[in-house]
Amino acid sequence: MEPVHIVGAGLAGSEAAWQIARAGVPVVLHEMRPAKGTFAHKTGDCAEMVCSNSFRSDDDVMNAVGQLHWEMRAAGGLIMATADRHRLPAGGALAVDRDAFSAAVTEALQAEPLVQIVPGEITELPDDGNWIIATGPLTSDALAQAIRSATGTDSLAFFDAIAPIVHADTIDMTIAWEQSRYDKGETEAEQKAYINCPMNREQYEAFIDALLAADKTEFHEGETAGYFDGCLPIEVMAERGRETLRHGPMKPVGLTNAHKPDEKAYAVVQLRRDNALGTLYNIVGFQTKMKYGAQTQVFRMIPGLENASFARLGGIHRNSFLNSPTLLDDRMRLRQRPNLRFAGQVTGVEGYVESAAMGLLAGRMAAAQALGRDLPPPALTTAMGALVNHITGGAEAKTFQPMNVNFGLFPPLDEMRGGRKGRKDRYPAYTQRAKDDFSAWLAAQ
Ligand SMILES: Cc1cc2nc3c(=O)[nH]c(=O)nc-3n(C[C@H](O)[C@H](O)[C@H](O)COP(=O)(O)OP(=O)(O)OC[C@H]3O[C@@H](n4cnc5c(N)ncnc54)[C@H](O)[C@@H]3O)c2cc1C
Repeated sequence: MEPVHIVGAGLAGSEAAWQIARAGVPVVLHEMRPAKGTFAHKTGDCAEMVCSNSFRSDDDVMNAVGQLHWEMRAAGGLIMATADRHRLPAGGALAVDRDAFSAAVTEALQAEPLVQIVPGEITELPDDGNWIIATGPLTSDALAQAIRSATGTDSLAFFDAIAPIVHADTIDMTIAWEQSRYDKGETEAEQKAYINCPMNREQYEAFIDALLAADKTEFHEGETAGYFDGCLPIEVMAERGRETLRHGPMKPVGLTNAHKPDEKAYAVVQLRRDNALGTLYNIVGFQTKMKYGAQTQVFRMIPGLENASFARLGGIHRNSFLNSPTLLDDRMRLRQRPNLRFAGQVTGVEGYVESAAMGLLAGRMAAAQALGRDLPPPALTTAMGALVNHITGGAEAKTFQPMNVNFGLFPPLDEMRGGRKGRKDRYPAYTQRAKDDFSAWLAAQ
């Protein structure tokens, strides 16, 4: 049988290799480290964790990433099984001894007779065969150029510039209102495409003070090349002048406060729909290097967002990722070249767990293909299905930025109460539905 080839033995590639071998299909795993490194990796081991040693919450009832852990364990995932064996005490989080973890993933793959690990960088996209590209946020330059040539210049980003994303049902619509600037658009939906949060002068001044004072993160050495094009952090804009934001992303023009039509706002923060379900909104132009704790405090100063719950916070990082909603089909294949599947962070998911989950899925799909079968993705109601649906279709392609798994990606349950208060009933219902549907997906294979 022809082997499946995987490029990159990170979190995604290692999990994909394991899944393929478990399905009885041979796999060749290509990894450029340690001969060629990245600014973040330190070793030649598989599945190296480049920064924190945490797989985040392990609560599979009240937390979406905990539910994703559950699904990966149910699917016999190598990353979760190894993390469980090298777990460190960390409250409700799943933290691991990073060196022991990566060494154990490497040993497990080396011991697997169907897996062959081949050292070396892949610099071209192969024309045929069954391939998974899992080269991550720090994809080597040569391969990144090859991907750009195949998909178009705008299709592979080298930086993420992530604006915070808010759960729509936690926005206070007695303060905010729906309206596009100058009511632009043919349809009512387009004319109401944005949610607007008004600020008076005092609120704006206090907001600028808080932005300037907030704790920020620094770039890693070697991370900044090619950065400052059109994605300035809001705090950098504020540093350039207190009025800069009011003439930029917070300009108050073309908008009328639906609750107080006679009151002219001094500044307006706009949020734009971020997914087809309409459950998530991103704060337009608010990419930031503020630390996470500071972001929550500062953004809750925005009128209407006092009780906002954030599906993800903002950030700016070196990150190679595809515009997956336009490029990938729901089997994670490049539409134009279906011999190539993509997995991991390069598909536009964010985080160790999400990347490994996309490796698990791509591995199973590639193995099914090698065996002459077709494997559809899990239902949209599961954490894995919600995530893959988001990147391959549910997300807005024009503003696509990497995404963590979160309950905003799940289809709402009609009978359940929205908002922050409804969470204690809603989240267990989401995760129970996810467990049932994921088990059914596994049973059907
Ligand atoms: C600086 C930094 C800090 C981060 N911190 C966190 C964090 O704290 N928590 C978190 O959850 N996520 C974090 N992330 C995101 C993290 O990288 C991903 O979550 C995860 O590692 C991605 O998994 P992956 O398998 O897609 O990529 P990786 O784990 O990076 O694996 C990709 C592999 O492909 C190899 N490779 C690249 N190009 C080629 C090529 N041409 N040929 C052969 N091999 C190649 C690389 O050497 C690497 O081993 C961070 C990312 C960065 C860049």
